[in-house]
Amino acid sequence: MNIMGLNIELLNHASVKIKDKKIIYIDPFELSQGTSLEKADIVLITHEHYDHCSPKDVAKISNENTIIITVADCQSKLSGLKIKGIALIEPGKSIMADGVKITAVPAYNVNKAFHPKQNDWVGFIVEMDGVRVYHAGDSDLIPEMKNIETDIALLPVGGTYTMNAREAAQATKTFKRCKIAIPMHYGTIVGTASDAETFKNNAGCEVKILM
Ligand code: ZN
Ligand code: ZN
Repeated sequence: MNIMGLNIELLNHASVKIKDKKIIYIDPFELSQGTSLEKADIVLITHEHYDHCSPKDVAKISNENTIIITVADCQSKLSGLKIKGIALIEPGKSIMADGVKITAVPAYNVNKAFHPKQNDWVGFIVEMDGVRVYHAGDSDLIPEMKNIETDIALLPVGGTYTMNAREAAQATKTFKRCKIAIPMHYGTIVGTASDAETFKNNAGCEVKILM
């Protein structure tokens, strides 16, 4: 779907493809062959859990020109891939890759143990052609979200491991700026379509349901 000039597809779960001058995938997972699996310029991986860091899915969409940007503990899982390289990132850091600014932001749990803050796992803000896209990773509603300035926000709504739909709706109201929010991380492993609807009905900005 074209959103603010960027082509954004929610492929599955938390898997997102952003296409503009460059092709970027975030957390590719269980990608079905036959869909538009163009090769990536950049792949972003938020943390090492199997539904986010999936080497076999990265292999489907990467080639010798692909750069992966991820956190330290995903690196060894991805070591067998024939790619251009892996750049490591941590919360608060930015990397320019192929003219795209990639910033890592904190992502962690506050009332469950699956994603401890000290792991330094991340969400990402991708800035391309003046449009900012935030992918929250597997996060709860955390204080750092007050600093999020984005045009488009992809937020987990499935609960159990992440924010639930109502917490994600609350997150949209704490951001410094957000125009359009897209629910993710539901429908496959946790959460249902009704979580996406609950999110849409309670969010503080426009919501587009892509899945
Ligand atoms: Zn996770
Ligand atoms: Zn997850």
